Amino acid sequence: MEKIKMYVDGKWLDSSNERRIDVINPSNGEIIATIPQGEARDVNDAVKAAKKAFQSDDWSSVKPYERGRLLYEIAEKIRKNRDELAKLETIDVGKPLSQGYADIDASIRYFEFYAGAADKLMGDTIPIEDGLIDYVVREPVGVTGHIIPWNYPIQILSRSVAAAIAMGNTVVVKSAEDTPLTATKIAEFFDQIDIPNGVFNHVTGYGYEAGAALSSHPHINHVTFTGSVQTGTAVANAATKNVVPVTLELGGKSPNIVFSDCNMEKAVEGVVKAIIQNAGQTCSAGSRLLIEQSFKDTFLEKVVDRFKELTVGPALEDKDVGPILNEKQFNQIVNFIDLAKEEGRIAAGGNQVTIENAENGFYIEPTIVDKVSTKSSIAQEEIFGPVLSVFTFKDDQEAINLANNTDYGLVTGIWTQDISRAHLLANRIDSGQIFVNNYGAGGGIQMPFGGYKKSGFGREKGWIALYNYTQVKNVAIKYN
Ligand code: NAD
Repeated sequence: MEKIKMYVDGKWLDSSNERRIDVINPSNGEIIATIPQGEARDVNDAVKAAKKAFQSDDWSSVKPYERGRLLYEIAEKIRKNRDELAKLETIDVGKPLSQGYADIDASIRYFEFYAGAADKLMGDTIPIEDGLIDYVVREPVGVTGHIIPWNYPIQILSRSVAAAIAMGNTVVVKSAEDTPLTATKIAEFFDQIDIPNGVFNHVTGYGYEAGAALSSHPHINHVTFTGSVQTGTAVANAATKNVVPVTLELGGKSPNIVFSDCNMEKAVEGVVKAIIQNAGQTCSAGSRLLIEQSFKDTFLEKVVDRFKELTVGPALEDKDVGPILNEKQFNQIVNFIDLAKEEGRIAAGGNQVTIENAENGFYIEPTIVDKVSTKSSIAQEEIFGPVLSVFTFKDDQEAINLANNTDYGLVTGIWTQDISRAHLLANRIDSGQIFVNNYGAGGGIQMPFGGYKKSGFGREKGWIALYNYTQVKNVAIKYN
């Protein structure tokens, strides 16, 4: 069992209280590691180190293209350790091994993408008048805090950390208490490259202690958060007290909208994959299926048939669906399914699963819920499990109304061969990302990602995320 340490100012540390938290393998309930229970004092040390590094010549003299090279080095280290990292992520989160590999590959791409961007964010010159030159530069914000959730730990860490460092900031990461293993490996990689101490720091601990201390710290200059609406709001409130900007990515209740003219085979695969990936524990999970009414029976039958073929089992066995992260998340899903049994009809799944030799894992059948009201909490709330709710619509307008009928607006899938209809829906649906005849575009490292409405604000991924980690300075110079 690994005894993990935090990484602060280039040193490997226990928490100041010397307490530890167990890390559990969701596939079988075994303890696989322990982490320091970092608290405010530890976070303060990490922020201090990051601030000192940010203000040092050692870091500010590193040229943008050299920062890019450092990020390429991290990408290369992730690539060299791909097998080990994929297994670690798989064991830690409980996701099927092939999905663990996909996450590692995405992390490599984030570090590469932002490595390439490091020396390419240009400023502007603005025409004012003769004898006055006005230019705009983008400067790093300073110390950036990154609060990481447990569902995609290495990907979510990589996307914001790489962008922040590319722009010349320093970083304090607070990994999720359930899934700290790959973040610790990334810290090891930063330890191995020639980068000033304090540029990258990793603290572990509970959200209410370490996370809260980070988001409320007066010397943090930006907070990036992914997780629940409730915690995101608390993080934003804490940061606002120090007039610190936040980027919030808070999940969704994303619809897949299926028309009768779709390519049925591709739509079925897209719809199924969108809800079972990472056992539905995905912010962008396609958790609502909206089907054109005349086509409902035909399409739903195909989806139900696919659900019946899906396999459930331990993460390393790479079945279609792995375990749920922990008992709390599992109980939340079971409660929603129990409600669905009362309010509607279970069209597939609906049962807990016991796996031989993994009896302490939290397994559940991928489930389809039909005939629930659009007002029901099943239709409105993020279940964060492999549970798909089905609704029907008569025409384009009803599809749009249904798609927009939740507090969220993260991702939407539209399945149709009619290009005009696809454009109409893309225009009218309140969603940060729209996919037509696909769902996710294979990861979308380069595409802006984030939410409308309660799915959050600010954008991660792609070029646009670089703006989170820079501030704008305008310089006006008068000359004769
Ligand atoms: P959470 O939002 O509480 O935790 C996410 C991260 O925030 C973790 O690192 C946690 O330690 C930290 N945190 C917790 N309380 C904090 C606080 N007061 N201040 C600062 N940081 C804090 O999520 P959870 O409890 O792990 O899961 C609950 C629900 O959240 C899930 O069922 C799901 O609906 C949602 N969720 C969404 C995403 C997503 O990708 N959008 C990810 C994880 C969880």
